[in-house]
Amino acid sequence: MREEVRTEIDDLVSRKLPALVALYQDFHAEPELSGEEVQTAEQLAAELEAAGISVTSEIGGHGVVGVLENGPGPVVMLRADMDALPVQEETGLPYASRRPGVMHACGHDLNMTALVGAAGVLAGIRKAWSGTLLFVGQPAEETVAGARAMLRDGLFTRFPRPSCAVAVHAGPDIPSGSVGTRSGVLSAGGESIDLVVRGLGGHAAHPDQARDPVVIAAETILALQTLRSREIDPNEFFVLTVAAVHGGSKHNTIPDEVTMKVNLRYHHSAVRDQGLEGVRRITTGVARAAGVPEDLMPVVTVIDESVPPLVTDAGLTDRCVAAAEEILGEGKVIEIPPISGSEDFAVYGQEGVPLVYFRVGTMVGGKPGPYLHSSHFAPEQTNAIKSATLTLVASALACVGKDQESSG
Ligand SMILES: [Zn+2]
Ligand SMILES: [Zn+2]
Repeated sequence: MREEVRTEIDDLVSRKLPALVALYQDFHAEPELSGEEVQTAEQLAAELEAAGISVTSEIGGHGVVGVLENGPGPVVMLRADMDALPVQEETGLPYASRRPGVMHACGHDLNMTALVGAAGVLAGIRKAWSGTLLFVGQPAEETVAGARAMLRDGLFTRFPRPSCAVAVHAGPDIPSGSVGTRSGVLSAGGESIDLVVRGLGGHAAHPDQARDPVVIAAETILALQTLRSREIDPNEFFVLTVAAVHGGSKHNTIPDEVTMKVNLRYHHSAVRDQGLEGVRRITTGVARAAGVPEDLMPVVTVIDESVPPLVTDAGLTDRCVAAAEEILGEGKVIEIPPISGSEDFAVYGQEGVPLVYFRVGTMVGGKPGPYLHSSHFAPEQTNAIKSATLTLVASALACVGKDQESSG
């Protein structure tokens, strides 16, 4: 990157930073749940328009797509998620959520602020690059529905199809001022399963005349744990959690069924397939062993909340890391281990678009504070907004390339 472009970027970010911090606090104070991002999307669209970006709203729900065409070259998508969580904020911050029971506890307010910051900077240095930038505000990340909804609504057909996509996300375990990434699997894939264990209800005093689904459910829960401990390759990442169990209504009555909610996390699709097969086989086997009639075998339903693993592109990541390091400073881009959580940015990769993803440090004082989704999550903001913005700018320039061709 040429020295004068770098200086120009630094100047622009420094000038915009106070307004960006104020914008972040506005987003933070007015969070909206997944699929309800009306005001958030309006504000994001207005900010992008103010930066000279042409904006289309209501894509796949409340999705926002800003297009900045600037001559021939690659199409680069920068994506920020917009939704908040059903969490009652307990930070006590002056700009804490004004909406009871809703909070930006995953830092999507930071991600959006960086998108606005990057739009302002990249629009301000048009002479330094050539190509098309897409600024995408995505709804409903927390329900892993937003990326698919935007794609179904023509994100890649009504707008120029991106040749690569970049996202940043708050990372409370990384020092503020630094960013982290890795090549390959960066976050886990997830599957959610509804499980209905069926039996024969009856009187609590006569279990002999029933087939008790509560006991079958208890055995099933323990037997499912052997998938991780006894069946899946120990070197493969796999997590199985039974997160909800509901059955029965009265002390003296054996119910007919027990429902469970099960969650799987994995890095490789073969392991997901092995896990899903195992869940079906074990639940059926336990029911059969308990003498449940064949027509009352458990019902296993994989629900529509799948998210693939986030797999970043090695070459693209290398280019963006080099560019980010040049602009953030040496040692400020660190390699992080894979994350066991999930991120629906991965869905764009499934469509064949190479991805790069950065976690932006929000840790203050050397030790991690409350993690994402906590009611006490209170990220450092000024340095985090700055490094998130610069990382998006550096990555966009690395993807469109050739700032050396312009006269500046
Ligand atoms: Zn989250
Ligand atoms: Zn998030």
